[in-house]
Amino acid sequence: MSRSKKPEKFANPAVLIIGGGLAGLTLTAHLSRRGVPVMCLDREPEFKSGTRDVRTTAISYGSHFVLEAAGVWDEIKNKSCPIREIQILDGGSPVLLDFLSADVGDKAFGFIVENDDLRRALNTAIQKSSATHLNNAEVIAIKTDADKSTVTLKDGREFSAPLIIGADGKNSSVRKYMNVNTHGWSYDQIAFVCCVTHQNPHHNIAIEHFRSEGPFAVLPMRDDAGGRHRSAIVWTMHGREAEIFKTCDDAVFVSALAARMPDFYGDIALASGRAAWPLLLNHAHDYVGARCVLINEAAHAMHPIAGQGLNIGMRDIQTLSDMIFAAYTSGKDVGAADVLADYQRARKLDTILMMAATDGLNTLFSNPNPFLSVLRKVGIRAVHHLPPVKQFFMRQAMGLKTTT
Ligand SMILES: Cc1cc2nc3c(=O)[nH]c(=O)nc-3n(C[C@H](O)[C@H](O)[C@H](O)COP(=O)(O)OP(=O)(O)OC[C@H]3O[C@@H](n4cnc5c(N)ncnc54)[C@H](O)[C@@H]3O)c2cc1C
Repeated sequence: MSRSKKPEKFANPAVLIIGGGLAGLTLTAHLSRRGVPVMCLDREPEFKSGTRDVRTTAISYGSHFVLEAAGVWDEIKNKSCPIREIQILDGGSPVLLDFLSADVGDKAFGFIVENDDLRRALNTAIQKSSATHLNNAEVIAIKTDADKSTVTLKDGREFSAPLIIGADGKNSSVRKYMNVNTHGWSYDQIAFVCCVTHQNPHHNIAIEHFRSEGPFAVLPMRDDAGGRHRSAIVWTMHGREAEIFKTCDDAVFVSALAARMPDFYGDIALASGRAAWPLLLNHAHDYVGARCVLINEAAHAMHPIAGQGLNIGMRDIQTLSDMIFAAYTSGKDVGAADVLADYQRARKLDTILMMAATDGLNTLFSNPNPFLSVLRKVGIRAVHHLPPVKQFFMRQAMGLKTTT
């Protein structure tokens, strides 16, 4: 009898994950590596090649351990670019603050990863695992009984498990089913995202330039196959100005971009499509309900000013995976109310603090008010001259606890 190369898939999952974005896929791979039977349902068609998302993600040093545990870091590390220096600029001033990895034991602050590379690596890891990943699987209804929740797909299929995890993004339907309200607002800002090639090497430097229109970030990427130097751009601007750049042609966009790039990059050229993301803050009042739990943007979406959105989600993933694994291996109900309450207790304050920090940074820095401009410069210089405070900020950027 010939042996199938495909791993045996679990017929009865302990966990159903709704949403196969970066958060849902990471949790699927993470749990399945620990032997927990898991199924991930995503409404999008299967992602094989080409580009779905031109964005990159700054994976913090701390988050790379989560990807390691999910079994994808070995592949991703060869495609990512370590950040060794972060330069903070404010308005027309020269570099005001400089963070060097030499000051934190020569560890990288984080790694710039292309979203599609990460998605591809996670898909491959899940295919090789015992987890089931279904595409074209849109959940339209959820029903909860005493011992399980059941989801109904648009095509009529039904799946049940003791626990449903909503990883279905900002407009989460799992959250709506749970009847959980959210609190938040729009920033009236759009983030333009693209990749550029440039004449000179970036030396693994990430630039965060605070401008009154919003933060402008240049993030180091790996050289392409032809040896061209590349960086990712996240260029934030207010709604009115953004309307012009949404419709202008590439030449106009590139010349405005070049005017904002620090001189040391030399000539630049567009190396990807351009995408525009409206920015908002959205926070769920509760992350848990009866046999349901929310992770990442289904629970909390924040301003990308500090590149922390998915990194905070990675902490959700690590915490929830640990709790599910502990319950599953001890024969406990993984969807029990006490397990879920522990998750919410562990994650809510950390998330609220990060949301407040990103919101405060955006208010303080995306503002032409001259008083705030002086306050910013005084604050930044104070950080520069107080090594323990500087260390604190560097460890935050790395996604490390301040005590470890
Ligand atoms: C410009 C920008 C830059 C950013 N940069 C960074 C960064 O540098 N570092 C960082 O940590 N974070 C960053 N972020 C945040 C990060 O991109 C997001 O946190 C992350 O992409 C969201 O992932 P997710 O899986 O939670 O949601 P999504 O990507 O929205 O995925 C949700 C999935 O659920 C599916 N779905 C929805 N409803 C259903 C349904 N009913 N049934 C089945 N499937 C469903 C959707 O099709 C989708 O595939 C950035 C964000 C922006 C906008």
